[in-house]
Amino acid sequence: MSDPINIDVAIIGGGIMGLWLLKDLKEQKYQAVLLDCGQLGGQQTCHSHVYIHRGHIYTKEQKQLVQGLSEANHEWAKWIEGNPDVVVSKDSYFGFESEASYEDRTQLWKKWRLGAISTDPSELEALYQGDVKYVASAKVDCLDAQQLVRALMTPWRDCIVRIKDSSLRARRLPDASGHIVEAEDTRGKPLQTRCRALVFAAGAGNRRLLKLGAREGAPAEPNLQIRKAHMLVVRGSKEYVRPLIGISMNLAGFLL
Ligand SMILES: Cc1cc2nc3c(=O)[nH]c(=O)nc-3n(C[C@H](O)[C@H](O)[C@H](O)COP(=O)(O)OP(=O)(O)OC[C@H]3O[C@@H](n4cnc5c(N)ncnc54)[C@H](O)[C@@H]3O)c2cc1C
Repeated sequence: MSDPINIDVAIIGGGIMGLWLLKDLKEQKYQAVLLDCGQLGGQQTCHSHVYIHRGHIYTKEQKQLVQGLSEANHEWAKWIEGNPDVVVSKDSYFGFESEASYEDRTQLWKKWRLGAISTDPSELEALYQGDVKYVASAKVDCLDAQQLVRALMTPWRDCIVRIKDSSLRARRLPDASGHIVEAEDTRGKPLQTRCRALVFAAGAGNRRLLKLGAREGAPAEPNLQIRKAHMLVVRGSKEYVRPLIGISMNLAGFLL
């Protein structure tokens, strides 16, 4: 095998986390490579609602999360300005079971300045079904997941390698200056890099990877946030599906 390619960062996994990180690193002129063994964005990312959360789903006990989100939202807003085609809808609808939960939540939104709230039942007939008795609308960008993945990957496609599942190997360098990462691309061509940092952005796939290149005695499984649910995606004209783009919630939680 030829000498390894020296890079700064190897990213494993090309969902939103990996792709966004690749974009950030490349914009800052780092040498970075992203390796994915499936479809880019094909796991959680393309099964997500793809709301750019502003904090509407949080309660007053989670105020800090709302503050943290505002910085991320600022980054997203800047990026969306240059990529307007990824936005499917700028209005999102939230349904409540009772007037009390509607009042509670929308008061909180006003306090946190999370955007305009208006309800016009005549526009939203389809939402007033089942448990939903009150609806609030707010400006929350909702993106098209496939467009999002395409827009993020296209500028950096030369730094993205599709690899064979199970071909990935990684080991720490003895002087702890980085890792050697090896894999085979989908045509069977071997790839070897020496990177200063190795990032696992493989979503649920991280569980399989955590031991790769780990320091001796490192925890076997740190906390991982893995969502198993997939959702129904309705495709149709924006006008027609508008009332379906929403999260329905009550005081106890969400009715997705
Ligand atoms: C139903 C649902 C709705 C959601 N709605 C929202 C929402 O509205 N707003 C929001 O912000 N978040 C939402 N989320 C959460 C959001 O989708 C996830 O936080 C996000 O997509 C996770 O992205 P990721 O890149 O970490 O993982 P993933 O998108 O799962 O990407 C993992 C990537 O790693 C690759 N991979 C896996 N194993 C390996 C391996 N061994 N080697 C190489 N590559 C590998 C996979 O092929 C995949 O491309 C939702 C999630 C679900 C399930």
